[in-house]
Amino acid sequence: TEKTFAIVKPDAVEKNHIGAILALIEKNGLKIRALRMMHMSRPIAEGFYHVHKARPFFGELVEFMTRGPCVVMVLEGENAIAKWRELMGATDPAKAAEGTVRKLYGANVGENATHGSDGPDTAKFEIGWFFPGYDV
Ligand code: ATP
Ligand code: MG
Repeated sequence: TEKTFAIVKPDAVEKNHIGAILALIEKNGLKIRALRMMHMSRPIAEGFYHVHKARPFFGELVEFMTRGPCVVMVLEGENAIAKWRELMGATDPAKAAEGTVRKLYGANVGENATHGSDGPDTAKFEIGWFFPGYDV
């Protein structure tokens, strides 16, 4: 079955939503296969988000992701990539569907509680970035 990469971002960790978000993941049939709490350094965050380097919000995004600890995870399940993105909801919590993680716990388009890989190649890169040697 498919694997994807997920983050509980610093805003959700600060608000004590780790447990609630992990519970939603498990309730929705995704398996947590790897998990670590970490405080990203600037180079780690910049490398992870290198595809967004040219975007106007890149600096703000790196500041946000490095301001406190987050939880990085590998999830597995049937269509795990699409399933986790559906469960997260739209990037902007104001546009996210009811019951989604971002609707429940996101503050705004920047501080949106979670990350999920957007495709198989990204999932492979992102899992390797945080779990070197992990067999995808
Ligand atoms: P993610 O990649 O974190 O799962 P996403 O795929 O829904 O989110 P992207 O377009 O890949 O959204 O943007 C990556 C992240 O950059 C977003 O999750 C958000 O934290 C931040 N971001 C996106 N758009 C904006 C914006 N307009 N202003 C500030 N931050 C933004
Ligand atoms: Mg993305």
